[in-house]
Amino acid sequence: MIDTHCHLEMQAFDSDRNEVIQRAKDAGIEAIITVGSDMKGNIGSLELSGKYDFIYSSIGIHPHDAKDFTEEVYEQLKKWATEFRIQNTPSLTLPPRGGGKGGGEQSKAPSVQIPKVVAIGETGLDYHYDNSPRDVQKQVFKKHLSLARELDLPVIIHSREAQEDTLDILKESGVSNGVLHCFSGDMDMAERVMELGFYISIAGPVTFRNAKKLTEIAGAIPDDYLLIETDAPYLTPEPLRGKRNEPAFVRHTAKKIAELRGVSFEDVARITTLNAKRLFRIGKLLQPGEITYRIRDSLYLNITNRCTNRCSFCVRFQSDYVKGHNLKLSDEPTEKELKDAIGESSKYREVVFCGYGEPLLRFNLVKSLAGWIKERGGKVRINTNGHGNLINRRNILPELKGLVDAVSVSLDAPDEKTYDRICAPDFKNAFHEVVSFIKEARRYIPDVQATVVELEGVDIEKCRKITDELGIKLRVRKLDAVG
Ligand code: SF4
Repeated sequence: MIDTHCHLEMQAFDSDRNEVIQRAKDAGIEAIITVGSDMKGNIGSLELSGKYDFIYSSIGIHPHDAKDFTEEVYEQLKKWATEFRIQNTPSLTLPPRGGGKGGGEQSKAPSVQIPKVVAIGETGLDYHYDNSPRDVQKQVFKKHLSLARELDLPVIIHSREAQEDTLDILKESGVSNGVLHCFSGDMDMAERVMELGFYISIAGPVTFRNAKKLTEIAGAIPDDYLLIETDAPYLTPEPLRGKRNEPAFVRHTAKKIAELRGVSFEDVARITTLNAKRLFRIGKLLQPGEITYRIRDSLYLNITNRCTNRCSFCVRFQSDYVKGHNLKLSDEPTEKELKDAIGESSKYREVVFCGYGEPLLRFNLVKSLAGWIKERGGKVRINTNGHGNLINRRNILPELKGLVDAVSVSLDAPDEKTYDRICAPDFKNAFHEVVSFIKEARRYIPDVQATVVELEGVDIEKCRKITDELGIKLRVRKLDAVG
C-alpha cells in the first residue's frame, strides 16, 4: 500500500518520527508521500525524502497560507522541484556519501540523500476556514498549477467548500494530472474531476459513522481513479479515532473501502498501489502479464487477449489492468503454465475463464483445464461473448457438460443492429448466434446468466425481456466496472 498524503515533517512527529516510519514499514506500506504545506514543511519533506528510500516529497503552499506566497517562495519551489523532481534523481538507492566504506555508524547511513519530489502541492482552495482571502487563494492555486504543468509533475489539490471555483480553475489551467486529496465533495464533483483526469483520494473520514456521502463515493469510484491516504497526523480512521494518525493506519481506511466496494483488502491495496505508482511515477509497475489473478475469493484465468468482438466499451482498449492486475499477455500461456499457476483449485470459490479476450478461442485448452480443475474439486465458470459455436464451427456445448458449473454470456444488446454497432463482431448474424448459444447452454450447464453493460442507446428492459423468455438471469453491469 502507498500512503499518498501525509505530513510526516510536521512537529506532531518530532518525538518519534523514526518509530512511526518503522511502523509504516512493518505494516507493509511500500511508499509514503509526505506533503509540504508551508516553507518549513517543504524543507522537512525534502529532508525526509532524501533520508528514506520509500518516502517521497510533494512541495507547495497550502491555501491557508496563500497570503504568505511571494515571488521568492515561487522561485524557491520551482528551484527545488526542478532540481529534485524524480526524473532528475539518478537512482533511488544511491550509495551512502563517502563511498560507504567501513562499518559502525557509517554502514547504517541511509541509502538515499537526494530528495525525491514527485508532485506539486498541497495547493488548492479552502473556503471553510478562509484563512487567506479567496482571490489570493485562487491566484496562488493557479501559480502552482502552472508550475506543475511546466515541470510535468502531478498536482496535489485540497478543495474544501470550493467546488465550482476548483473545477473552473482546473479546467482553465489545462492540467489533467493530479489528485483531489482527502476528497470531501459530492458525486457530481467526483465525476467532473475524474473527467478532467484526476484521481480521488479517500482518507480516514470514510470510516466515520456519519460519512454517508463519502462512503457512497468510495464505493462507486472506478478502480482506475482510486487512491488512499492518511493525511496524518490528522483525521485518524476508526477504530483509532482520537489518537494521532500515522501512515500505518492507512490499513483501516483500505479495509473500510474494501468493505464498501465488495472486494478484498488485498484488491484495494493492489489497485491503489498501482494507481499511486502511475500517478507519481514511483516504483516499478508490474511488468509481465498475469496468467492467473485473484479477485475477492475467485481465481481468474487469463488465457488469451484475442477476441472476436471489438466492443466500444471494452476496457482492453483503455488499460492493460483490471483491479490492479496487468493482463496484457506477451504470449498465450500453455496448459502446464496455467496448471502450475492455479495450484489447489478447490481453495477458490470458483475458477473463472475470463481474461482480456474470448476464452473459447482456445476451446481445447478450456475443456482440458476445466476437467482438471473439476477432478480436483474446483468449480468452473466461463465468461464468454457467446461466439463459441461460431468460432469452433460446431455446437461445443454438449462437450462442456460436467466440466463447467456456470457460464456468463455477454448479451450486450436487445437486437442485431445494436449488437453490431456496439460490439463490432467478426461474424455475421452474431447476435442471433449469441442467443442460440445461451439457449443451448441451458441444456448442459447448470447456471447460465447473461450480462449487459449500461450504455446509452441500449434498452436494458428489452434485453431483460429476452433473458426472461430464455429463463435466465440478466446481470446489468456498470460501464468501466470490471471484475
Ligand atoms: S467481448 Fe469482452 S473482451 Fe471481447 S471486445 Fe467485448 S468486452 Fe472486450
